[in-house]
Amino acid sequence: MIVQVSLPVALYRPLTYTVPPELAARVAVGSRVIVPIRGRRELGFVVAEGGEGVGGRGSAPDGVALKAISGAPDEAPVLDRSLLSLCHWIAGYYIAPLGMVLRTALPAALTGADAPEPSQKTKRVATIAAELPTLLERDAVFARAKKQREVFELLESLGGTAPVDLLLERMSFSPSVLKSLGDRRLVTIHDEVVVRDPFAARPRAPAADHAPTTAQRDAIAALAGGRPGETFLLHGVTGSGKTLVYLELLRRVVNERKQGAIVLVPEIALTPQTVSRFRAVFGDQVAVLHSALSDGERYDAWLALRRGEKRIAVGARSAIFAPVRDLGAIVVDEEHESSYKQGEAPRYHAREVAIVRARTEGAVVVLGSATPSLESWVNASAGKYRLLTLPDRVGGGRLPHVQVADMRLPKDRDARPRYANTAEAAARMVLSESLEQALRVHVGRGEQCILLLNRRGYSAFVQCAQCGVVDVCPNCSISLTYHRTPERLVCHYCQHTEEVRTTCRQCGGAVLRQRGLGTQQVERIIAERLPAARIARMDVDTTSGKWSHSEILDRVERGDVDVLLGTQMIAKGLDFPNVTLVGVVDADVGINLPDFRASERCFQLLSQVAGRAGRGPKGGEVIIQTRVPEHHAVRFAVEHDYARFVAQELASRADPPYPPSLRLVNVVFSGTNEELTSQLAIDSADRIRAMLAKRPDLDVVIVGPAKCPIERIKNRWRWHFMLKSAQSRHVTRVARYIAERLPVPSAGRLRVVVDRDPVSLL
Ligand code: ADP
Ligand code: ZN
Repeated sequence: MIVQVSLPVALYRPLTYTVPPELAARVAVGSRVIVPIRGRRELGFVVAEGGEGVGGRGSAPDGVALKAISGAPDEAPVLDRSLLSLCHWIAGYYIAPLGMVLRTALPAALTGADAPEPSQKTKRVATIAAELPTLLERDAVFARAKKQREVFELLESLGGTAPVDLLLERMSFSPSVLKSLGDRRLVTIHDEVVVRDPFAARPRAPAADHAPTTAQRDAIAALAGGRPGETFLLHGVTGSGKTLVYLELLRRVVNERKQGAIVLVPEIALTPQTVSRFRAVFGDQVAVLHSALSDGERYDAWLALRRGEKRIAVGARSAIFAPVRDLGAIVVDEEHESSYKQGEAPRYHAREVAIVRARTEGAVVVLGSATPSLESWVNASAGKYRLLTLPDRVGGGRLPHVQVADMRLPKDRDARPRYANTAEAAARMVLSESLEQALRVHVGRGEQCILLLNRRGYSAFVQCAQCGVVDVCPNCSISLTYHRTPERLVCHYCQHTEEVRTTCRQCGGAVLRQRGLGTQQVERIIAERLPAARIARMDVDTTSGKWSHSEILDRVERGDVDVLLGTQMIAKGLDFPNVTLVGVVDADVGINLPDFRASERCFQLLSQVAGRAGRGPKGGEVIIQTRVPEHHAVRFAVEHDYARFVAQELASRADPPYPPSLRLVNVVFSGTNEELTSQLAIDSADRIRAMLAKRPDLDVVIVGPAKCPIERIKNRWRWHFMLKSAQSRHVTRVARYIAERLPVPSAGRLRVVVDRDPVSLL
């Protein structure tokens, strides 16, 4: 017997091995196998039977004997046909080695070659083995062994069987007592597998029992009647009750039809509230694939799903691979979130994988968001997805009033404010009078405030302090990045370069340079200005512990925090009715990132964070500090006008064209030597251009090469170019060529990364 084995390495073709007769019964398509390769043992996956090739080598001369697999840890294949075909699709579409996709699709406990059989946690359980119904018998059997009798009778009172730990909790006795009971065959001791589920111990909130609104009812009915494989886009404003719609759909799917479901959330540590709502309704049927789980706990959850003991998987991106049986529905909450895209190989997008998986397994998909991605919106407009709308907040709640605090300096010097001292002047650069005043009022009333300081991918840009204008590349319509040595402005898509002006090209004002602003700095300023306020900060520094996110959020929920200050991690999904004020410290940071999605990101973030305000009966307000109040991302977020934002943003993505107007692949070259890295990028672009010139049938355009906006990461220099095409298939052809066949010199630790449908070009 001969099999094709995919290994989790950068190898695009499977290798061929023979199967020794004694292992043949354990090997089939989807099995894990241990194979020898280059003197090592690797864990691989059987992806096909038969075929020819040479084990352990890429392409060896004919006549070399095939190597044999050396181990087969599973009795039955761990990968079923549908998961395997899903992984094939991912490997093909995202141009990733199949073995790496398969490794991603399985829990870590199943992917190590050294310990292919994952350990399971066990506990020792004692069970009564002999009946002693009469006192007479008891006296005779135990005689003077008083302790044995006590333990035996304790066990009896606990129903005849109990974990040894529990017995020891109730009564102290030495190990020899149990051993004697065992030796005398009065009690048997055995090991029992325990499912490691840290959520089982966490308290379960009671399920909220709201009657759905008319809009919710319509959405639920449409979803319940969805055709197998159908995709829905649920566009519901913040606070419109999308979670209730998901829960009702799952009630139909799981409770009535006895099928399974997957619920994807952007980052599970950040969404403890959403998770607890699902647990409140479905209890032990839910497997929470939390990022804080150990490999063993994750494996147990995986097994429970696979065996059908649990029917709902809730988790972040990788939960899309959960082995849920008889899949009836997939929910992708906050579908616009970029965390659904994996940043390393395989660079898949869980939303797209969800749609493909649902189609093959006959499930329905709900993509939910208050601010859907332009991709999903266009698909809904084109009729590929069915659009469902929740236009209003539930319970008669209104969207919060949003107001702009314009941080520009007045052009007229005399009109500029005078401050008592430099401390106040410094504070005013960060905290406007209106936001400070609002904080005082809301905290004073015993209400809570959320302050957002967005810092993601901060990159320097130059902005006029007076009119707020930022220099933009004439070819690419993205903001120019400020470089200090030599001092100049550079476009990170096309390398267009400009001198740094001393005066603003629009208003003639003196130019101001923007720098990063840290959450710590903002925290200090708030603490100085509002000494009585209890502030909690949530950013990468305060959330390194496994459960630290939910600890901070629990404090907010209990009312122990007046002001929650944080990065974009506080913008998502939080539902605290006592939050009545949301402030955005600097809306402009994100807008000016050199990325074509910068405006969309900014609009989504502003809308999402604004949506945290006024979710209770007290209502709420939002203050956005900005120097670009006319920017469409700010203006339409202020007006809660998704439709007009999308219309303007789509128009701007038509020329120069960017997704969703066409297909995009980002090709990133990196290496430890700057010269070699840039040379590889330039040579590769030349090579692809020459190839495209000979293939007029391939409708693909190259843009670049240029330095990546973030030029160097972890000592590696970075260059990139982009492939653009209206034709998905064409871009696949070229990207595949680059990934599999582009010559890469061995010097300078050079690496080429192909990122299809990138969510970030930084
Ligand atoms: P979204 O995800 O759309 O922002 P949520 O699902 O978090 O909104 O719901 C917001 C709040 O409204 C939650 O506290 C939820 O319990 C409540 N809610 C949802 N549906 C209803 C309803 N039909 N009647 C009353 N309250 C509801
Ligand atoms: Zn440019």
